[in-house]
Amino acid sequence: MERTFIMVKPDGVERRLAGEIIRRFETRGFNLVGLKLVQPDRALAEEHYAVHRERPFFGELVDFITSGPVVAMVWEANEAIKLGRSMIGALKPWEGVPGTIRGDYTTEVQTNLVHGSDAPETAEAEIALWFKPTELL
Ligand code: UDP
Ligand code: MG
Repeated sequence: MERTFIMVKPDGVERRLAGEIIRRFETRGFNLVGLKLVQPDRALAEEHYAVHRERPFFGELVDFITSGPVVAMVWEANEAIKLGRSMIGALKPWEGVPGTIRGDYTTEVQTNLVHGSDAPETAEAEIALWFKPTELL
């Protein structure tokens, strides 16, 4: 079994889509390993998106992620990382396939509702960044 870090971003919480997003992971058959509501500070958001530090959208992205509470989660399944990314859908809205979370609920590149780890190394780092070991099953 593999673990992945999934986060409902502030727009998802604001739009009352946290339950819908959790439901999709539950009904797909993932096991819930950790879950909490967090108001991220800038240091946490900057660390989470450190790979994008030099990108022109970095400042705005950190503003967005710190703009309200997020639902931080760890989900477990076979191939959880790839499966989670496929359920989330594409970054570019015009590539977002209906049936995916982004493809069903957003037209925006930034306010795209949900984050999911993209590789085993990032999953491990993100889980360790957002959760203490005692907060996980
Ligand atoms: N993002 C943005 N502008 C861009 C590209 C990305 O605001 O031009 C935001 C968006 O919220 C995205 C996040 O930065 O989810 C991380 O970008 P990445 O390319 O890693 O996409 P993801 O892994 O979330 O699909
Ligand atoms: Mg990414």
